[in-house]
Amino acid sequence: MPGMRPKLIIIFLFGGFASFSQTISSANTLARPKLVVGIVVDQMRWDYLYRYYDRYGNGGFKRLLNGGFSCENTMINYIPSVTGVGHTVIYTGSVPAISGITGNDWVEQLTGRTLYCTSDSTVHGVGGVSEFEGSMSPRNLLITTITDELRMATNFQSRVVGVSLKDRASVFPAGHAANGAFWLEDASGNFITSSYYMSQLPAWATRFNERKLIDSFISGGWSTIYPINSYKQSDQDNVPYEGRFTGEQQTTFPHNLRQAYAASKASFRNTPYGNSFTLAFAKAALEGYQLGRGNATDFLTINFASTDGVGHMFGTNSIEIEDTYLRLDKNLEDLFKTLDAKVGKNEWLVFLTADHGAAHAVGYMKEHNLPGDYFSTAPLVDSLNRQLNQKFQSGNLVRSISNDKVNFDLNKIFSSSLDFDNIKTFVVEFLQRQPGITMAVDIDKIGASPIPEPIKTMIANGYYFKRCGSVQIIPNSGLLDGYYKTGTGHSRWNPYDTHIPLILYGWHVQQGTLNRRVNMSDISPTIATLLHIQMPSGSVGQPIIEAIKTK
Ligand code: ZN
Ligand code: ZN
Repeated sequence: MPGMRPKLIIIFLFGGFASFSQTISSANTLARPKLVVGIVVDQMRWDYLYRYYDRYGNGGFKRLLNGGFSCENTMINYIPSVTGVGHTVIYTGSVPAISGITGNDWVEQLTGRTLYCTSDSTVHGVGGVSEFEGSMSPRNLLITTITDELRMATNFQSRVVGVSLKDRASVFPAGHAANGAFWLEDASGNFITSSYYMSQLPAWATRFNERKLIDSFISGGWSTIYPINSYKQSDQDNVPYEGRFTGEQQTTFPHNLRQAYAASKASFRNTPYGNSFTLAFAKAALEGYQLGRGNATDFLTINFASTDGVGHMFGTNSIEIEDTYLRLDKNLEDLFKTLDAKVGKNEWLVFLTADHGAAHAVGYMKEHNLPGDYFSTAPLVDSLNRQLNQKFQSGNLVRSISNDKVNFDLNKIFSSSLDFDNIKTFVVEFLQRQPGITMAVDIDKIGASPIPEPIKTMIANGYYFKRCGSVQIIPNSGLLDGYYKTGTGHSRWNPYDTHIPLILYGWHVQQGTLNRRVNMSDISPTIATLLHIQMPSGSVGQPIIEAIKTK
């Protein structure tokens, strides 16, 4: 009997070594997905996931919802809720107060000059015909992106590529160290880039442009994909608060896109085919850069911008917007099938979110006795300057109002030794008395002001002194600029503009839903955690740990 013991010990020892060495060998190489795909659906309200749920197929939105992790209460945690800012927050885990991207455009407070968020006069367009549309780079963004961090974490072996119809929705996600970022130039119908990235387009991109796909997309016009009487979730087709393409007498289906495109090339953006065109280019980039087939994890960022164009033109309750989402659902199915085939099932990680939502059309709100109206801040500038002149004996102290913030002439104020605090107090008191304004606040004194959460934090998070005005206006709920007599807009703190979808799916993602509130700025820290890379340099978000599979 005693003779048995050593044998048993030996067996246990070997068994122990075997499993021990197995653990070591699997832990010896760091596991990462082959490809990350960031999808931002422009102007996608969270409720579109469920409003059209019954009509989606199984391979698009439903594949993500059923197999992935949906954060049902994801909120934007700053204002203004617009494209340039949304894309920086999603990909930096930060907020405008730190990233420096305070709007699509902003007024440089020290000079009074208006700057577009990605404009960069030191670079020029590549692959197109106009200089201006290509003079873009991420240089105005003061911090790193999650895509930059991935590049650094892999000693630049990871490839990062951005694709969108919009420059800002391609440039910011792809980051400072991108391999390429591409966007649509209306004048040529080409996907172009800038000399910031390269001196000529890759051959595959030139070949793509030579196919002139826009022509074939618009040739058949735009009819609903299903019989029009099946669009039960939408308003009637002919309502006065929908826009019309140039040359159209009515706002109804079918839309003549050839005629519209001949009148304005930008009209292509306001059709669902803009998304199909974006997908076609993204698939070409996947092949061209061999994404997901290299030594390190690659990152493809895609923005589907036509949902925004159609929303602005036709509004949130139009048959046009429903049809655009039903078609986008098919685009997504196509994308996911392509990823399965080219990168491999379970080898890719995707997140889908939005850069902002949208308000309902003012006409729709009025029709149903809901609160909504037109409101323009521009006329307030003249009255403010008149009042300030009387009080402080100095003219034109207010340059403009943009992004709902009052831009002051700081040089004049400081060089004439005027008391800026007194001026702001006067402006706040004037604005509070105006119709359509819920509240106004001197942002420098926000801590001492009676502003409820989450608005207080959203204002502070959106405030970067050199690039935005110091007095914030919060208009009443449901107000849209008079510019939107038809269709809709977005930019405000209200949930219709700031409640967005967020679904993670694929590699190491837990299946499930989360109902507690998370913020848009939590997305990048979550991706950083999944990839075992550093979070971006201005990141203030929290990782959504519930979404990460642990085993
Ligand atoms: Zn947008
Ligand atoms: Zn928009």
